[in-house]
Amino acid sequence: MSEKYMDDIYKFFGISPEVVKAGEEVLDGLKERFERIDKNAEYCQLKVLRAFQKNNVNESCLMGTTGYGYNDIGRETLEKVYADYFNTEDALVRPQITCGTHALALALMSNLRPGDELLSAVGRPYDTLEEVIGIRPSKGSLAEYGITYAQADLDENGEPDLDAIRNSVTDATRLVTIQRSKGYQTRPTLSVEKIAQIIDTAKSVRKNIICLVDNCYGEFVEEREPSDVGADMVVGSLIKNPGGGLAQVGGYIAGTKECIENASYRLTAPGLGREVGPSLEALPRMYQGFFMGPTVTASAVKSAVFAASLFERYGFDAYPSGSEERHDIIQAISFHKPEGLIAFCEGIQSAAPVDSSFMPEPWDMPGYDSKVIMAAGAFVSGSSIELSADGPLRDPYTAYFQGGLTWPHGKFGIMKAFQTLVDKGLVIC
Ligand SMILES: *Cc1c(COP(=O)(O)O)cnc(C)c1O
Repeated sequence: MSEKYMDDIYKFFGISPEVVKAGEEVLDGLKERFERIDKNAEYCQLKVLRAFQKNNVNESCLMGTTGYGYNDIGRETLEKVYADYFNTEDALVRPQITCGTHALALALMSNLRPGDELLSAVGRPYDTLEEVIGIRPSKGSLAEYGITYAQADLDENGEPDLDAIRNSVTDATRLVTIQRSKGYQTRPTLSVEKIAQIIDTAKSVRKNIICLVDNCYGEFVEEREPSDVGADMVVGSLIKNPGGGLAQVGGYIAGTKECIENASYRLTAPGLGREVGPSLEALPRMYQGFFMGPTVTASAVKSAVFAASLFERYGFDAYPSGSEERHDIIQAISFHKPEGLIAFCEGIQSAAPVDSSFMPEPWDMPGYDSKVIMAAGAFVSGSSIELSADGPLRDPYTAYFQGGLTWPHGKFGIMKAFQTLVDKGLVIC
């Protein structure tokens, strides 16, 4: 293709030749990296296809039900597809599970009873779970139901502390929760290998401890999922990786027969369980989204690696660093001042296919304890498998960047964000 076409369109978007050059230089060093990401996506794609074919997904599965949703063959088959992919006995995948926090709350509340203790194996959990657990007092929290909480803190390198985990397990410990992704922290995201060690450690104290993995943002990033290495439940959101950018709502829990059964009675009502729950018109997007998930996730991983490599080169701190292996799609970049975080988010917003003329502003988001700025111009509201960035307005002013339904769009968004910092004099290029 003629260079001129690219030059013209970059000019239209206000990307300077210097920023284009900086981007291309960074990309030259990422070829081998990207090949490995594509190879992993190919493997995960075939695993998804195998799950579709084994369960004989056919056209009638795409038809939805209404009302009670009895005998919803499409819903039941999709749950079998998820269970197969995650290598679990069973799964719940529903539009009635409204988001990741809801899916996690459901998994916890249905499998814990008064007097039980919940142990977080990797320090403080994701912000919204603090209210679910009752670390921050909240109506309806686990604490209100007499479920206690303990946490094994990370070691000084931000890695799981296996001794601390072993020592934190008491007779009351019923469930160990393990958050795979860093969330709004700068600790390393856990590899599936590391998760296996945590599970083995907890189960070596008592075999029947339930191990739950908050799998948000981790699906399809590695060849294996945490449920391949002994997790009793993996939990996530369909407006992240496994919805492939197409699912408009939903969450999943994949796990053992017993854990899923408990969750199903909590989701609807005792006696009803999984038999009710209309899929309405959600199924085609849930199926197709899961099918697209591996390549969409690969686009997001490439975007993350590119962002880390580019911003690091200009002196910003990136977690993980551009050269590190990936275990989720989140890229944290610390700006150490609010202007940097805000400029980055403005750039991402202005690169969006929807709402590109809007300006993101810090606001008090429910469930979070400091102001948060969010850039998202998404087809699905709040979807963070689509190109998006957000971050709490607190030191070190870190932007959590994620998504990119396509690699060209992810690449462009990062260049636009970088350009915005250049234009505001926050970086010299
Ligand atoms: C996104 C996320 C959640 C919560 O999901 P929501 O859909 O935003 O409610 C929980 N844990 C982690 C690690 C997440 O990334």
